[in-house]
Amino acid sequence: MKKASILIVYTGGTIGMRRNENGTLVPFDFNSIEQEFPAVRTLNVNISVHKMEAIDSSNVTPERWCELAHIIADNYGNYDGFVVLHGTDTMSYTASALSFMFENLAKPVIFTGSQIPMGILRTDGRENLITAIELAMATDAEGRPLVPEVALYFQNRLFRANRTSKHSAEALSAFESRNLAPLAEVGVNIVYNHSIIKKPEVCEPLKVNDSLNDKVIIIKLFPGLSQKSFEAMLSIEGIEGVVLETYGTGNAPTAEWFIEALQGVIERGVAVVNITQCHGGAVAMHLYETGRRLQDIGVICGYDMTTEAAVTKLMWLLGKGQKGTELAHEMATPLRGELEKSI
Ligand code: ASP
Repeated sequence: MKKASILIVYTGGTIGMRRNENGTLVPFDFNSIEQEFPAVRTLNVNISVHKMEAIDSSNVTPERWCELAHIIADNYGNYDGFVVLHGTDTMSYTASALSFMFENLAKPVIFTGSQIPMGILRTDGRENLITAIELAMATDAEGRPLVPEVALYFQNRLFRANRTSKHSAEALSAFESRNLAPLAEVGVNIVYNHSIIKKPEVCEPLKVNDSLNDKVIIIKLFPGLSQKSFEAMLSIEGIEGVVLETYGTGNAPTAEWFIEALQGVIERGVAVVNITQCHGGAVAMHLYETGRRLQDIGVICGYDMTTEAAVTKLMWLLGKGQKGTELAHEMATPLRGELEKSI
């Protein structure tokens, strides 16, 4: 059987840390991965490593997302799959952004990281990395990749990346996929959920859409949000998109000042997307008066999208020059499996 080739792109984060002789945490050398973990040699895989400047992922920017997307695109023809090692704090944002930026993706791009540094005995990084490599190289009987998606593997579960959020700063199972079952579950065997894994619709070359528009803000509602603060956020010069984290099924105050402030920015051409603060379920603005008012003034329904997916999708659509009804339609349509329309 042909040896698979996998490119590991190392971007930084906890996974890349090991202890030196003095006991201090220093960067782990992924070039020596096969010496560190001889078991990798049994996988029938050639591994190459591309090291980006290592950062704590709290410092990630849309420019980094573009750099990462281009590293994968530039190497796309030479590898069967890609493993991206990333800090956990913003991994879901980066992975969601890439899921939108890649057009015609037909190979696995598996994000992973760890909660405990690689150089600590009890690390979760080793298992996460080795299984991510296995997932990235897995093929069916015809040699087609089993997971041709941007996915995120963490602690025995493979998720569609744009469905994930980091939900624990402590647990080793740090990620959740609030509204979609795992694409695969890893126990003694790897059990794939084939029916929900997206397969490429067309056989076209990979394209990277890298003009992201960062004139986007997130506003999370809370009881006590004052008129002054709300209006100040909406009047930030130059904003073109707002992700509004509302209550329950997409509900918000019906106070006139609140509705008028939103209506004002929508009339100025700002796209306002409604997603829920809840950790499960979806926005359905017609259910309550408090949601229906938002629908009436042109707030876009984000259905069951995560904050990470909503904000990166909005940056991407605005970056493609979309606006008005076209943007509203695309925002509320599943383009990369990031949402499910409940109604
Ligand atoms: N602060 C780190 C980061 O996101 C945490 C981690 O990697 O788990 O880069």
